[in-house]
Amino acid sequence: MSKKPLRDLGYGVYAVTSVIGSRHVGCIANSAMQITSKPATIALSMNHDNFTNGAISESGIFAISILPETVDSGIIGTFGFQSSRDIDKFENIAFSEKEGVRVLNAAVSFLVCRVVDKMETSTHTVFLGEVIDSDELSEGEPMSYAYYHNVVKGKSPKNAPTYIEEEKTSDKWVCSICGYVYNGETPFEELSDSYTCPVCSVPKKLFEKR
Ligand code: FE
Repeated sequence: MSKKPLRDLGYGVYAVTSVIGSRHVGCIANSAMQITSKPATIALSMNHDNFTNGAISESGIFAISILPETVDSGIIGTFGFQSSRDIDKFENIAFSEKEGVRVLNAAVSFLVCRVVDKMETSTHTVFLGEVIDSDELSEGEPMSYAYYHNVVKGKSPKNAPTYIEEEKTSDKWVCSICGYVYNGETPFEELSDSYTCPVCSVPKKLFEKR
């Protein structure tokens, strides 16, 4: 079986947000698509291990902020590689509230969905959500997962459906938070201390030699 056809399908880079009690939570998802037009319904796949999964199940509402190609790497780092179990992801993020859920001001556009059904797989929940609000926020180009992978050189968080176990690299400097592999021309050791991971924005000292 070849993995390439799985990568040939289209995926995006979305900040999916929800709310549990008074706590606003969110994470990055790659797999969301419109499946019917009347009413407009979205299918969203989310790993059971994502804290946001439980919030969506309980509140029955989620928002999808569609991120631009130019999105700040700190947003991917915060929403994609940390857990709402441990931190308030909105602490340093500009947002607005729609139907009681937060959407990121950095998004190209957003959808707010009310859960109408869901299906469990062994690792992921597929939520069906009817769109109850949507709007455009800025003019940027939405980021595809292929762009994130090929141009930004970003990796999948291990909970993503698109995650593929990667071969161990030898003697490379790797971001310990997001898995980005440094491939610049300057030897890693010679980079200034102000260097930060281009994917998740953590400082140079969090890279490790593998
Ligand atoms: Fe990183």
